[in-house]
Amino acid sequence: MSRSKISILYLYPYEMNTYGDWGNVLVLQKRLEWRDYAVEVIEHRPGDKLTKRPDIIFFGGGQDSGQGLILSDLNKHARRLHDWINDGVATLAICGGYQLLGHEFITATGESLEGVGVFDITTRAESGRLIGNVVLTSDEFGTVVGFENHSGRTYLQSGMKSFGGVEKGGGNNGEDKKEGILYKSAIGTYLHGPLLPKNPQVADWLIARALGVSNKELVQLSDRFVDQARAVITAR
Ligand code: GLN
Repeated sequence: MSRSKISILYLYPYEMNTYGDWGNVLVLQKRLEWRDYAVEVIEHRPGDKLTKRPDIIFFGGGQDSGQGLILSDLNKHARRLHDWINDGVATLAICGGYQLLGHEFITATGESLEGVGVFDITTRAESGRLIGNVVLTSDEFGTVVGFENHSGRTYLQSGMKSFGGVEKGGGNNGEDKKEGILYKSAIGTYLHGPLLPKNPQVADWLIARALGVSNKELVQLSDRFVDQARAVITAR
């Protein structure tokens, strides 16, 4: 019997890949393969066609300059990405990618980078970056650890749910103790790290969403070494 194939759309891997964000794609791929799914990673570069609806979308972080490089291509595909994410495609967007799934990112030079608009957020750069280790807690994911480095201050519009509450770190804007967004089957977050190797429960949430099953229905994997690493990180 042929194995079911899961497709991961990796948006702009060469322009948007800060702090090894690519590791997140590798984690999704491995955790699917260990559960006997075949995985196809589709790298989308500026100028490529974007027609086939994927099972998972990944959009990494990038400097303002990287965001500028992919902007016109992103705007070309905005409607399609908007509809897929609104329709429940499992999605992880980090930092610069997170900002660009919102309405706009206003850079330090005052330029407005128009985003996909599927996340009801706006972001404005401010002097003074939010940099450092982050610890979040949420009902959905328990403790989440990561690392942030951004000039952007992001504000969730009313009714939007955050990815987690900030225990340590800056989060969306350094003020309201909220970090990221959780919207349908999509997560937007400032956490690099990369996020998924340190937080396999988040990877499995995305995988369960992509497969259309509950987390409990997934084959359980041993995360012994990750658990040890997380215990050290959270005790720091
Ligand atoms: N350029 C954005 C900012 O500084 C995103 C940075 C990133 O992706 N690390 O806010």
